[in-house]
Amino acid sequence: MPAGTAPLTVRAHRLARGLPARGTRAPEIAAAAPLIAEHLRAFPKADTGLLLRAYEVAERYHRGQARKSGVPYITHPLAVAQLLAAIGMDTTTLAAALLHDTVEDTDLPIGQVRAEFGPEVAILVDGVTKLDGARWGERAEAETFRKMIMAASIDLRVLVIKLADRVHNMRTLKHHPKREKRERIARATLELLVPFAGRLGLYAYLRELEDLVFGVLQPQEHDELRALVRSTAPGREAYLAPLLAQMRGERAATGLRVTVEARDRHLYSVFRDLPAGVDGTLHPRSVTRVVVVAEGPDTDCYVALGALHARWRPVQARFKDYVATPKHNMYRSLHTSLLATDGETIDVIIRTPAMDQVALFGVAAHIRAAGGRTGQVSTEAARLADLKWLDRLLAWQPLTASEDFLASLRADLDTAGILVFAPDGSPIGLPAGATGIDFAYVTAPETANRAAGVLVNGRRTALDRQLAHGQVVQLINGPPADPPESWLGAARSAQARAHLQRWFADKKAEIARDQDEQAAAAGREALAAALASTGAHLLDLEASGMALRECRRLGYADLDALYAAVDRAEIALDDLAISLSR
Ligand code: MN
Repeated sequence: MPAGTAPLTVRAHRLARGLPARGTRAPEIAAAAPLIAEHLRAFPKADTGLLLRAYEVAERYHRGQARKSGVPYITHPLAVAQLLAAIGMDTTTLAAALLHDTVEDTDLPIGQVRAEFGPEVAILVDGVTKLDGARWGERAEAETFRKMIMAASIDLRVLVIKLADRVHNMRTLKHHPKREKRERIARATLELLVPFAGRLGLYAYLRELEDLVFGVLQPQEHDELRALVRSTAPGREAYLAPLLAQMRGERAATGLRVTVEARDRHLYSVFRDLPAGVDGTLHPRSVTRVVVVAEGPDTDCYVALGALHARWRPVQARFKDYVATPKHNMYRSLHTSLLATDGETIDVIIRTPAMDQVALFGVAAHIRAAGGRTGQVSTEAARLADLKWLDRLLAWQPLTASEDFLASLRADLDTAGILVFAPDGSPIGLPAGATGIDFAYVTAPETANRAAGVLVNGRRTALDRQLAHGQVVQLINGPPADPPESWLGAARSAQARAHLQRWFADKKAEIARDQDEQAAAAGREALAAALASTGAHLLDLEASGMALRECRRLGYADLDALYAAVDRAEIALDDLAISLSR
């Protein structure tokens, strides 16, 4: 520490309280004050000195660089860190967020990040650093994603930073001059980043990303729908007010401590569910859901549900129990649809406060809880969030070639996913539409080839039948066998597809090898016979090296290749026999 400067933490706390920090270049670091204040609200005992140091280094290295809009570059990492502070991420994550573009875009080496900020910050920064497009060419994008997922296996927070980075880049995408480029980035966001947000349960980011993408790809529909949602808000409020009042009235009867509120869905999800597109009308149920938060044990959710169902008739098929069977991003809630007095339905969601946090922030809610008051979360603690899908992603990814990687990743992330259970009750996450074949390769890749069927809820079912959320699945093994090619068509998970593709590719290569061997044997036999009629012996010619010389002269790698060529009549047998016997 230079002589005469106050300790960083003291400076940071002064900054956070709006006081000038003594002994620093105040104008440069004052911009970090809101970030530090926000972080201290979540973690009162946080090491804000680390944040200030990260900010100072990032500001110094990015100095002179500008964003497309013309503002200084440092505004971007600062905004990313603020997005992460807003969802309660820990100090390490915020420091890494401040530094996340330094290694990629400035001459700060990753080794120096490690030396100054420690291995955890370095892993996070390195994990979000793009691979050099000049060196990796067309594979750069796929390999960058692969690298990020590998880093996420060590530390999940890599993905959370990447998402916040994309949220801010999407917010500022309008400054990108080329429409084509804007649309390409928006589509990539929808295909890869939005599903990741879903997998991490980070719905706060997911909603914003989807709405930003919607605005870029369908600007007219986006603006029309936004205007319509705004103009119909008073009507919606008037419609819902008596219903909410009645629901709050039920609370007294049950003795539960609950809050009841109307929450609007995000624009893109409203749009997605509009049957006829934006046509000027909008029923309240299309926009708003009622969220009931019950403060008590999980079982209070069912008590609240019972009270609501006793008063309003539920729509049978719409009830979903994600409390007993969480989604595989850990989301938990009861979902029901009630018949309102006008004959229309209204969606109601019931959850505890803890479930509500997970519903908004997913994995970030767990990291926040792990941070206690200090905001110190170890790599290990960050992994506590038990994300089976990440392990699966990592289990298959080394199998897949670079060009297949993004395609497989998209396929795996494509749909919401289901959760089924092994007979011992352990949950297995699978993509929607997954079959018994997927279950076999995901749970038992070594023996999956000999799967003969599955028991679904105790009943024998064909392997290629689709599984449904919540089912109990048990594998039935048969004798060792080759998987039929039709399995590839019925497999949805990237892991099963990668295994099968590799198996069929190996099989094809093996068949080709066998055919080559047979051809070589047959060609050698024919050549030996042709030579014998001239009095020469192939064995002698092989022993003397004569055969190999002729083979090389004709441009074949080895004798087997030459003999195979003879068998395939690529070489005239008689000519070869003559030139060998000379
Ligand atoms: Mn960035």
